[in-house]
Amino acid sequence: MLTNDQLDQWDRENFFHPSTHLAQHARGESPNRIVKTASGVYIEDRDGNKLLDAFAGLYCVNVGYGRQEIAEAIADQARELAYYHAYVGHGTEASITLAKMVLDRAPANMSKVYFGLGGSDANETNIKLVWYYNNILGRPEKKKIISRWRGYHGSGLMTGSLTGLATFHNKFDLPLSQVIHTEAPYYLRRPRKDMSEAEFVRHCVAELEALIAREGADTIAAFIGEPILGTGGIVPPPAGYWAAIQAVLHKHDILLIADEVVTGFGRLGTMMGSDHYGMRPDIITIAKGLTSAYAPLSGSIIGEKMWSVLEQGTDENGPIGHGWTYSAHPIGAAAGIANLKLIDSLGLVENAGSVGAYLNAQMQAAVGDHLNVGEVRGEGMLCAVELVKDRNATEFFDASEKVAPRIVGEMAKAGVIARAMPQGDIIGFAPPLCLTKAEADIVVEKTASALKSVLG
Ligand code: PLP
Repeated sequence: MLTNDQLDQWDRENFFHPSTHLAQHARGESPNRIVKTASGVYIEDRDGNKLLDAFAGLYCVNVGYGRQEIAEAIADQARELAYYHAYVGHGTEASITLAKMVLDRAPANMSKVYFGLGGSDANETNIKLVWYYNNILGRPEKKKIISRWRGYHGSGLMTGSLTGLATFHNKFDLPLSQVIHTEAPYYLRRPRKDMSEAEFVRHCVAELEALIAREGADTIAAFIGEPILGTGGIVPPPAGYWAAIQAVLHKHDILLIADEVVTGFGRLGTMMGSDHYGMRPDIITIAKGLTSAYAPLSGSIIGEKMWSVLEQGTDENGPIGHGWTYSAHPIGAAAGIANLKLIDSLGLVENAGSVGAYLNAQMQAAVGDHLNVGEVRGEGMLCAVELVKDRNATEFFDASEKVAPRIVGEMAKAGVIARAMPQGDIIGFAPPLCLTKAEADIVVEKTASALKSVLG
């Protein structure tokens, strides 16, 4: 076996890590962690540290680590048929079965699933299909996509543009011109402190209406949003937000894409986040929870309204010019089937609801009154603690103080992984859906003590 020193050297010499300070990493100035194995909600690194992963990797290992049922399904599939493509009507038992299982769990008006590899490529697919749809309908001008500031939809050219976070745009010449952004439904950061939630919803709607009026409804194809903002800060929308937004979209014949890469398959305590918030999307993006990250697989679930136009398009123009070599990869599909079966048999959707509510309540009780906590918020098995310099004035810390990264660093030393979200001092939690109450207690206790050690 390689020594840790050898791996460390090779890592810094050869490996281009995503979302990493490249220069510091290469120079050996920032720590690395080489993960060795994992089981349940715990990961173990090569230095012998065992950590409770309260972010489930990147909110994706929903069934927890080390599930032998999924490992066996992957191995069986690899032995029987490691690969075949899905072009020109080809399929495998696994990919066809998984498509049916996904549709059985999706809202009633959904028609077909296109399988990709990750959330970013699924959202790229979605935008291409939306453009195709409007071309087939003879509306070539109706192409712009509305996304929210603080939305996260991936880091490709189009999806990085949809993402409403500065680090994903700066120096990359993004966003592309077809993408326009509107207000995030982020009540803590509302424009006026005396605004009620209902007033804030009206404000978000007015901002959207103004944007549509400025650009022209006949130039806008779709609106994309996560049911609950994820990477932008784990922010549940204010009550009534989705109903009000959908009314505007309906009025202007603008499609709705629900990006359920985080919320799909149980994270909010409902099978889909759209169920949770009464959303009626035309497309749903799925990834992470589809396989619990045991293999890369994503999907675009296409609603009936769009599907009939896509069929019309191929009748008029021939086969659809879209596909990846690894679309519907059988190993990913086998992992997906085993994963969805486990979610059902272990009752993980219900557990996400009940233990998630417990985690949020205990977190609120433990740190909610701290002078530097602006808000503890969450939904299902998602929770966030937002730190502020002054809670009465809702004044935020300067980013250079790195308050959340320091707290998260202390927590890791104490054996719990949380995530310092990329914009603002926000500590994010998205544990595996199998978290127990006793494990939730550990997460809360380590958060409270790290908060105390950094901010007093
Ligand atoms: N959409 C959402 C809501 C996400 O949270 C993510 C990733 O975190 C993506 C899309 C992009 O997925 P991927 O990183 O698999 O490309």
